[in-house]
Amino acid sequence: MNCPNCSAQVNEGIHICPICQASTHVRTERLSSLAVTSFVLGILGIGLWVLLAVAGCAAGFLAYTFIERSGGALKGRPFAIAGVLLSAAGIARHFWLR
Ligand SMILES: [Zn+2]
Repeated sequence: MNCPNCSAQVNEGIHICPICQASTHVRTERLSSLAVTSFVLGILGIGLWVLLAVAGCAAGFLAYTFIERSGGALKGRPFAIAGVLLSAAGIARHFWLR
């Protein structure tokens, strides 16, 4: 196998690359639960309470920040973006359609 950092040939079972000292452990990507939460809150916020939409908007921004900082370990950016947009729509709807 090859080092994911410097592409040097590394023997199987060696977890630290001898060339660049990077971990050769393949990073497992996981879905950001906060991003999914934001998405769900955004949907609920449109139909139900505006407070859910406010929480969804905050959760979406947070999730997006975490995903950006994770360097690829966290997935779910589309959920975070959708969560923020849906929540914003829920908040806008609350104020415009009162
Ligand atoms: Zn390396």
